[in-house]
Amino acid sequence: MPSKLKIGISACLTGEKVRYDGESKLDRQLLDSLSGVAELVPICPEVDCGLTIPRPKMELRGETESPRIVVIETSRDLTDKFTSWSAGKINELEKLDLDGFIFKSRSPSCGISVPVWDESGSVIGSAPGIFAGLFIKSFDDAITADEEKLNGGDRLRQFLESCSDIATCR
Ligand code: SF4
Repeated sequence: MPSKLKIGISACLTGEKVRYDGESKLDRQLLDSLSGVAELVPICPEVDCGLTIPRPKMELRGETESPRIVVIETSRDLTDKFTSWSAGKINELEKLDLDGFIFKSRSPSCGISVPVWDESGSVIGSAPGIFAGLFIKSFDDAITADEEKLNGGDRLRQFLESCSDIATCR
């Protein structure tokens, strides 16, 4: 394994209080496991693109192939804001040579498989959150996982080994 992997991570998992409710989703076990193995690059797409803490809760809505991210209560559509911020961020990340990314599960911005709702309030399928989807499209060889999938030592070990393979081939 190279000396240290460089891994992007949803900032709320590292303990940053950036969630819509002003709290974090600190995953202490995950952080302890990554300590000494990886340099983490925390990113919160919702805050970094200019939304406040706290802020109204959002969801994916529309079609599973091209969902929109909207504020649940008001239906305000933030897709264009997110897409344009994400394009700039992905350009920045290209220069960092990340070896992998750990996304917060079920977030409409960061999740890898997130429910998509129709206008009548029914779930019609799932899709990646807006930032996660654009990240995965842009870095098609990137090793990605959501934190729920990394529960258990074996899965995390496999994830890190895959990241290490990418780093070695670079
Ligand atoms: S899931 Fe992503 S967008 Fe939501 S608070 Fe965490 S880092 Fe920010």
